[in-house]
Amino acid sequence: MAKPVGAACNIDCTYCYYLSKQDLLEYKPGCTPKIEGEALETYIKLYIESHNAPEIIFSWQGGEPTLLGLEYFKTVVELQKKYQPDGVVIKNDLQTNGILLNDEWCAFLAEHDFLVGLSIDGPELLHNAHRTNRAGRGTFRQVMKAVDLIHKHNVTFATLTCVNNLTSKNPVEVYRFLRDVVKSTQIQFIPIVEQKTFRTDAPQSDTESWQAENQIKQGDKRLIPGHKNSVVESFCVSDLGWGNFLIAVFDEWEKSDIGSVFVQYFEANLASWIGERSQLCTLNPVCGKGLAMEPNGDLYTCDHYVYPEHKVGNIYHDNLEEVSYGQQQQDFGYAKIESLTSACQRCEYVFACYGECPKNRFIKNADGEPNQNYLCAGWKKYFDHIDKRMAHIARSYGYPVKFGRYSDDKMASLLGSNPRYMFNTQY
Ligand code: SF4
Ligand code: SF4
Repeated sequence: MAKPVGAACNIDCTYCYYLSKQDLLEYKPGCTPKIEGEALETYIKLYIESHNAPEIIFSWQGGEPTLLGLEYFKTVVELQKKYQPDGVVIKNDLQTNGILLNDEWCAFLAEHDFLVGLSIDGPELLHNAHRTNRAGRGTFRQVMKAVDLIHKHNVTFATLTCVNNLTSKNPVEVYRFLRDVVKSTQIQFIPIVEQKTFRTDAPQSDTESWQAENQIKQGDKRLIPGHKNSVVESFCVSDLGWGNFLIAVFDEWEKSDIGSVFVQYFEANLASWIGERSQLCTLNPVCGKGLAMEPNGDLYTCDHYVYPEHKVGNIYHDNLEEVSYGQQQQDFGYAKIESLTSACQRCEYVFACYGECPKNRFIKNADGEPNQNYLCAGWKKYFDHIDKRMAHIARSYGYPVKFGRYSDDKMASLLGSNPRYMFNTQY
């Protein structure tokens, strides 16, 4: 994941986890380095050379990558063509707040088949609550102009919506807005979870906020966003807020949108229920497959671990393949499953969750064990809600159900050789 302008951005969202990298990585104000000139060419060449797959995907993130201007991305595409091996397809993803998109941009993005990830948090009031410019004004109208242009030029796009203290309380309104107004058919949600120390303290570091003895027990009021002594930022979603949000969206989606609207979490869950790997790193057993690269070429274990102690190398000085499969990166990746709490190991939904993202593992569970995931109670409630339904959906598409309380094995042992359950589908 390339950050060609690092944390530089033209807006100032309340919950952005990346703006603070400007200070953490010691860039001088207004002097964020960019990947440009020879460095850009070298990056593209090295990135292509480090792949041995028929498809190579470049992911451009930020900060706000469109700050680099359209000419920059025209150069990107030319350089990709220059180094494109025969028979290999090269694709680009671009995550943007949409503010700078215009006709020319959108025509280019459509022509070169970029997948645009557009950040939008819902209807005007909900979006403007946190997605503001530097003057504190909401950016909703500008983003909706981008939506119109995206449709006008048939740009392939997905929406990215943050589930925070406000959007989490309006799940159906948010979902219907994305489906009916934005007309998004690929919907991604991200739970916003940050300890108050997130700007300086790396997850799992030996800082005070991450030390086992300082972690707060599940159910304690200090884990509620907005509580006066809360350890998390007030803009965060609560654990059950997250579960309830997913449940309400799932129910709405299930009524008529299966197969026509792709909600990334539901796709990922279906994969888990049928025994395939989920496409979301957060719900997989290991991390470490998405290094983040800052504009000076420094490589970090993950986009959420861009802290000095998680630097694993530099693309211009080290071999990318060796870094990607190096010991530090492997240790980081396997730590996700190796450090599961005993509650997670016993959990009936571990196959779909794997303790979720390690950056969110900062509470004590009911047994007093540290490093439980902050969102755990919400995940469990949601998994309980969808378990039977996921089994139905999988069967209606002819997939085996490998996991959950209604798996093929469990149903067969209940019903003997009479597979009546196979026909008991509501879809
Ligand atoms: S740390 Fe979180 S975001 Fe990063 S790879 Fe692991 S699960 Fe994914
Ligand atoms: S639902 Fe909770 S206990 Fe189960 S795997 Fe996820 S985080 Fe662990």
